[in-house]
Amino acid sequence: MKFTWSSAPKPDSAPVEKWLDWTWQLQTALKNVSDFEKSFELSESEKKAFESGSEIFNIRCTPYYASLASKTNQYDPIRRILLPHEKELFDPKQAQLDPLGERKSENNPVRRIVHRYSDRVLFLVTDICSVYCRYCTRKHFTGADQAFLKTDEYEEALNYIRNHTGIREVILSGGDPLTVSDAKLEKVLGDLRKIDHIEIIRIGSRMPVVAPMRVTDDLVRILKKHKPVFMMTHFNHPRELTAEAASAVEKFVDNGVPVMNQMVLLNGVNNHPAIVQALSRRLLFLRAKPYYMFQCDPSVGTDHLRTSIDNSLQIQRELWGHLSGLAMPQLSVDIPDGGGKAYYAPQFEVSRTEEARKFIGWDGVESEYVNPAAQDIRIPIDTEMYVEEWENLKAAKRIL
Ligand code: SF4
Repeated sequence: MKFTWSSAPKPDSAPVEKWLDWTWQLQTALKNVSDFEKSFELSESEKKAFESGSEIFNIRCTPYYASLASKTNQYDPIRRILLPHEKELFDPKQAQLDPLGERKSENNPVRRIVHRYSDRVLFLVTDICSVYCRYCTRKHFTGADQAFLKTDEYEEALNYIRNHTGIREVILSGGDPLTVSDAKLEKVLGDLRKIDHIEIIRIGSRMPVVAPMRVTDDLVRILKKHKPVFMMTHFNHPRELTAEAASAVEKFVDNGVPVMNQMVLLNGVNNHPAIVQALSRRLLFLRAKPYYMFQCDPSVGTDHLRTSIDNSLQIQRELWGHLSGLAMPQLSVDIPDGGGKAYYAPQFEVSRTEEARKFIGWDGVESEYVNPAAQDIRIPIDTEMYVEEWENLKAAKRIL
């Protein structure tokens, strides 16, 4: 099936000549209750969330993204992502300010750098976002009005990356790195590309979802110049794939920027196999790889948006066998308190011996995989050529 994409419904009040200008989208973002009341019939629960003021996570939304949500139905999936709800203030079952353990000293060696895994670091270039997603996992940093990093922070972070030669990847994150200007982004990419051991640069951004007009010819020219750069998008729902968003995704890919999508399974938003397959197949058609299907982290104020691991496993199980490997996102849970990722896959193995493992497949086929004899398993003869590189990578957090 070929897919078609509809443009976001521009409100009459928005000037035609500004609607597709990303800086206008950021400057005229909805920020307070009176802004939101012009676009939405707020429910009592949403009004109460606004009344709570500073107790709650920042509130901001581009006019473009707001136009995708229902004006009247508080249970609309897009609306649940962008509008605060009084449930954010309820006694939580679990609420962590830093569920990924990014503030722990062993993972946060210098300001704006998170070094959790050996071969890669997060470089938090800004704390600003154009939309403050209610499920955000980085509420300890995002929206604290620190904006682009100061000169001394920037040098400190770059020096850390320069001095740790085992680091292979830098992930620009935040906040949203695509809220910064092209000039600043080009400076960061250029400085990273001068570092010999940096192979891959990733950019994690919601801008292709919430302000896709940010993906300009100038932006993709900059990304192409500093290749390989991967774009990690965060589409959560097929309705976010408008004509504008589809065009942004295709512009990346056409210019040699691979797009990988990281969705979060959210209660009452997208926790249904029909929705996940719809999103995944449309993304794949646009040549964006559905990469992760994350369990929502128990970040502060997210209890009502979290679904259970059992619910996520059920969704994965239903998709298995019906969705190709290309279209299937990997279900992953970040172990709270910074325990790292745990991947899930449906369990098809039903018994095992030393010689063989027995399975019942997704559609009921029963069979076994017989192991070769243990003494016949060899190490490849050219392993030594790569061992030093491998050891250096594993030790990247320790070696200066
Ligand atoms: S764009 Fe990302 S960092 Fe910003 S609020 Fe949304 S989830 Fe959090």
